[in-house]
Amino acid sequence: MWWIVAVTFVMILAAVVRRAIGPFLTLKRLPERLEINGMVLIKDGFVTAGFVPFSQREVALVDAGNDVDAKAILAELSRRGLGPDDVRVILLTHGHADHTGGIAKFPKAQVMALAAETDVVEGRSTGGGWILRLRPPKPTGIRLSRTLRDGEILDLGSFQVRVFAVPGHTPGSAAYAIGENLFLGDSANQDTHGRLKAAPGIFSGSAAQNRKSLVELAGRLAGDRSIKRLVFSHSAPLEGGMTPLLEFARLA
Ligand SMILES: [Zn+2]
Repeated sequence: MWWIVAVTFVMILAAVVRRAIGPFLTLKRLPERLEINGMVLIKDGFVTAGFVPFSQREVALVDAGNDVDAKAILAELSRRGLGPDDVRVILLTHGHADHTGGIAKFPKAQVMALAAETDVVEGRSTGGGWILRLRPPKPTGIRLSRTLRDGEILDLGSFQVRVFAVPGHTPGSAAYAIGENLFLGDSANQDTHGRLKAAPGIFSGSAAQNRKSLVELAGRLAGDRSIKRLVFSHSAPLEGGMTPLLEFARLA
């Protein structure tokens, strides 16, 4: 009888593992380092951070990577003769640990996220997703310097940042339009066929809300000609302006 229990256990385990890693097998791989439109996408293992120099000696980051030592971001700073104190702003797409890892390395940075994401960033909530709920939240030691509102526009020297709420992956997930790039964080990805797909459901608080937010964002930015590419945290960026997101919304 014991072997029936063992086989059942192995089958359940295999199904859980397949559901957990399956969504990542169909993603277009991240580039190593990509310089676009005055910004750099920095690969930190399986996630990217956006590096946005907005004056001679001031840098904003879109997320802070997974690495608590922030090695890849520090290397980009030193390549430019800059140091950790030159990072002045960190815009969080959301509060999951693989996006906030390096924050402590940049003590002069103002850390910003949508108000609805505060509990996730500061460690009072996982933000949802059944696989993330397996581990209870614990305090992260991160304090938001400033909370952002949907529709807000931030002036960062040579760049403007347009802030959009795209709840679903987490309650306060944000997208940021900066120059030609629309940073979508974990709310969407590029698949291996070059299409935009929504966030994997197992890591998201509400997959349905995530899809709804993407459709709404497509509506809000439908006529926007300034956006040239869509940037994702776990897959390669998609060229073609708003078209891939509009196509997603058309089929949703
Ligand atoms: Zn996430």
